[in-house]
Amino acid sequence: MLCVEACPHGVLSVSKDVNERGLRYVELARPEKCTGCGMCVTMCPDCAIEIIAGKKTGGARHMGRDEG
Ligand code: SF4
Repeated sequence: MLCVEACPHGVLSVSKDVNERGLRYVELARPEKCTGCGMCVTMCPDCAIEIIAGKKTGGARHMGRDEG
Protein backbone atom coordinates (compact mmCIF):
# COMPACT_ATOMS: atom_id res chain seq x y z
CA MET A 1 0.00 0.00 0.00
CA LEU A 2 1.30 3.39 -0.97
CA CYS A 3 1.12 5.07 2.42
CA VAL A 4 3.04 2.23 4.09
CA GLU A 5 5.79 2.49 1.51
CA ALA A 6 5.83 6.30 1.64
CA CYS A 7 6.38 6.61 5.37
CA PRO A 8 10.08 7.27 6.01
CA HIS A 9 9.81 6.21 9.65
CA GLY A 10 8.06 2.85 9.44
CA VAL A 11 5.01 4.10 11.29
CA LEU A 12 2.52 2.23 9.14
CA SER A 13 2.21 -1.46 8.37
CA VAL A 14 -0.21 -3.85 6.72
CA SER A 15 -2.23 -5.85 9.22
CA LYS A 16 -1.86 -9.57 9.73
CA ASP A 17 -5.59 -9.73 10.49
CA VAL A 18 -8.35 -9.05 8.00
CA ASN A 19 -11.27 -6.70 8.33
CA GLU A 20 -14.97 -7.52 8.05
CA ARG A 21 -14.58 -7.64 4.28
CA GLY A 22 -11.78 -10.20 4.54
CA LEU A 23 -9.11 -7.74 3.49
CA ARG A 24 -5.92 -6.57 5.15
CA TYR A 25 -5.75 -2.96 6.29
CA VAL A 26 -3.19 -0.34 7.29
CA GLU A 27 -2.42 -0.05 10.98
CA LEU A 28 -0.18 2.10 13.14
CA ALA A 29 2.79 -0.09 13.97
CA ARG A 30 4.92 2.63 15.61
CA PRO A 31 2.77 5.74 16.14
CA GLU A 32 5.36 7.27 18.45
CA LYS A 33 7.69 7.62 15.44
CA CYS A 34 5.28 9.81 13.43
CA THR A 35 6.73 13.22 12.66
CA GLY A 36 3.67 14.56 10.87
CA CYS A 37 5.62 14.91 7.64
CA GLY A 38 2.53 14.25 5.51
CA MET A 39 4.04 11.80 3.04
CA CYS A 40 1.31 9.25 3.75
CA VAL A 41 -1.35 11.89 3.18
CA THR A 42 0.18 12.84 -0.14
CA MET A 43 0.32 9.24 -1.34
CA CYS A 44 -3.15 8.09 -0.26
CA PRO A 45 -5.36 7.78 -3.38
CA ASP A 46 -8.51 7.89 -1.25
CA CYS A 47 -7.60 11.00 0.78
CA ALA A 48 -8.30 8.89 3.87
CA ILE A 49 -5.50 10.22 6.07
CA GLU A 50 -5.56 13.54 7.85
CA ILE A 51 -2.93 15.24 9.97
CA ILE A 52 -4.12 17.23 12.95
CA ALA A 53 -1.71 19.27 15.05
CA GLY A 54 1.26 17.62 13.38
CA LYS A 55 0.22 14.05 14.12
CA LYS A 56 -1.26 11.47 11.81
CA THR A 57 -4.82 10.49 12.61
CA GLY A 58 -7.24 8.03 11.11
CA GLY A 59 -6.40 5.78 8.25
CA ALA A 60 -5.69 2.87 10.53
CA ARG A 61 -8.54 0.71 9.31
CA HIS A 62 -9.76 2.43 6.19
CA MET A 63 -7.73 0.50 3.70
CA GLY A 64 -9.05 -2.93 3.05
CA ARG A 65 -7.69 -3.07 -0.41
CA ASP A 66 -4.95 -5.19 -1.85
CA GLU A 67 -3.88 -2.42 -4.17
CA GLY A 68 -2.74 0.97 -3.04
S1 SF4 B 1 2.91 11.74 8.69
FE1 SF4 B 1 3.69 10.16 10.12
S2 SF4 B 1 2.78 8.23 9.36
FE2 SF4 B 1 2.62 9.74 7.68
S3 SF4 B 1 4.47 9.46 6.43
FE3 SF4 B 1 4.94 11.07 7.93
S4 SF4 B 1 5.90 9.99 9.66
FE4 SF4 B 1 4.83 8.44 8.43
